[in-house]
Amino acid sequence: MLANIKFWENKAKEGQFAIPHFNVWNAEMLMGVIDAAEEENAPIIISFGTGFVGNTVFEDFCWMMLAMAKEAKVPVITHWDHGRSMEIIQNAYTHGMNSVMRDASALPFEENIKEIKTAVDYFHPLGVPVEAELGHVGNETVYEEALAAYAYTDPSQAAEFVERTGCDSLAVAVGNVHGHYSAEPKISFDVIEKCRDAVDVPLVLHGASGIGDEDIKTAISCGIAKINIHTELCDAAMGAIREHTDDSFLELERAVRQAVKDRAKYKIELFGDADKADVR
Ligand SMILES: [Zn+2]
Repeated sequence: MLANIKFWENKAKEGQFAIPHFNVWNAEMLMGVIDAAEEENAPIIISFGTGFVGNTVFEDFCWMMLAMAKEAKVPVITHWDHGRSMEIIQNAYTHGMNSVMRDASALPFEENIKEIKTAVDYFHPLGVPVEAELGHVGNETVYEEALAAYAYTDPSQAAEFVERTGCDSLAVAVGNVHGHYSAEPKISFDVIEKCRDAVDVPLVLHGASGIGDEDIKTAISCGIAKINIHTELCDAAMGAIREHTDDSFLELERAVRQAVKDRAKYKIELFGDADKADVR
């Protein structure tokens, strides 16, 4: 069933688990994560973003996302990830996404506030929660270089940011990056804790693929309530493709769906999200 992200992020925050956010941009990924959520009786977020439009036409694929979210036996949120403009997230909303991230984290503090406030003022009357990012989670390919110039979330700014924007959840930059980590991730748990103490809204961890299981558990215990996974689903799919390269395309795609499902199930269990679908 279609679900409200704010409800689930807050349940996760209260219950010290994290709701998984899975980026999906083809049928196998979408079906794989829904299969996983149903088997685990777990609420999940399915999400699309601009980075995937070169592969899939969102304005077509969105209807499959929406139909599967509605038909699922578990709560499913339809989300737009890293919306770089109002036009992009308005388009996401008119195509069935019931949650949006407005990402202005590359802008200076005051401009970030202004952009998020504009999004919140527009979407709250429509009943659509807005995620924002403070600090900046980059896409750098060399992790050590990324850390050398890393824009950590400043906990002393977090309360003002949340209060002035009215955002519903806050993505934090704590040593996490998108894509593959070229070295062991160094997550600043103290920054997560300081942000948790500074704000009431749930905290979000992007770029969580490749962060070790113990660090994920620690991050949740420090206050992370939503965790974004994309790269690991791609890695799982690639593993299946390598293994089934001599099979028919039909068999290969079934193997991809299964591999995505298995990885999603693993993450659901790791995040403490299994069997949370019936939480009221
Ligand atoms: Zn992200």
